[in-house]
Amino acid sequence: MQFDIIALGEPLYELNQQPDGRYLPGFGGDTFNVAIAAARLGSRCAYVGKLGNDPFGDAIAALWAKEGVDASAVARHATAQTGLYLVTHGERGHQFSYYRKGSAASLMTPEDVPVDLITRAKYLHVSGISQAISETAREAVFAAIDAARKAKVAVSYDTNLRTRLWPIETARPAIEKAVALSSLTKTSVEDAEALIGLSDPSAIAAHFLKLGAGAVLVTLGAKGVHVATPSLHAEIEGFSVAAVDATGAGDAFTGALLSELSRGVDLFVAARFANAAAALSTLGYGAVEPLPHRATVEAFLAKH
Ligand code: ADP
Repeated sequence: MQFDIIALGEPLYELNQQPDGRYLPGFGGDTFNVAIAAARLGSRCAYVGKLGNDPFGDAIAALWAKEGVDASAVARHATAQTGLYLVTHGERGHQFSYYRKGSAASLMTPEDVPVDLITRAKYLHVSGISQAISETAREAVFAAIDAARKAKVAVSYDTNLRTRLWPIETARPAIEKAVALSSLTKTSVEDAEALIGLSDPSAIAAHFLKLGAGAVLVTLGAKGVHVATPSLHAEIEGFSVAAVDATGAGDAFTGALLSELSRGVDLFVAARFANAAAALSTLGYGAVEPLPHRATVEAFLAKH
């Protein structure tokens, strides 16, 4: 089977705080969200990672089956657990608390990378979180990137800096190396400020293009996204919606972008579609549950 997108990283079980204080179960993990987002939009997706042999792992495997995401390359670890995180909502927006140290996914090694599967895809998607969860996972990310590049599979990379997972001194060179090897890099102003000390989207994009990225997308929250290639920079405006929870909006954006690109859509046109999908993903709680299906995004775009 051929795939549009193969995402590699750590799937997580989510507990998301509701206004009444109770926690709603859900799913998350940045690259995991990207794969589900793209699958809902009709892309053929596969996931690469490890799960624990536990009820959270069972729930994640069941979700993949339901959403049509191929998980043939996902192994169950005999003793290590599936990662978990909480989302709480306060004055400073949403906050995350992770319970993922020593998780099954963090025990991934380069030997776990399914080279054959990767060579059958249009896009490989990896992130700074896939790299941050452990040293062996970081090696696995570079092994996957290497396999993709050798097979001329485009590499999509999200900087997704999490300094709680790895110190900035370790993160910076690993992230810059992945950016340099990427066909497209998605980043945020927040990440770029911490990584390279730049806050102007155009300057951020220019910096990452100079490192070697084929295209750069700097997401700007509700304002949309700055899209740049070596020959063209453009700001693609976001959509005004009554957002309740922006958890995973960036992943919804990337999943939609890759879904469109793998259908042959132009990058700048795809970015508008991705803004719409990401805006719609903020209308509900959690990273996965509110991810829209293609018909919903198309109906939304037809009205805007
Ligand atoms: P990240 O989650 O990676 O930090 P952002 O918060 O910048 O990314 O959001 C990613 C994308 O999601 C934006 O480029 C935009 O398309 C969309 N988005 C995010 N927040 C909103 C919002 N409040 N209203 C509409 N769209 C949003």
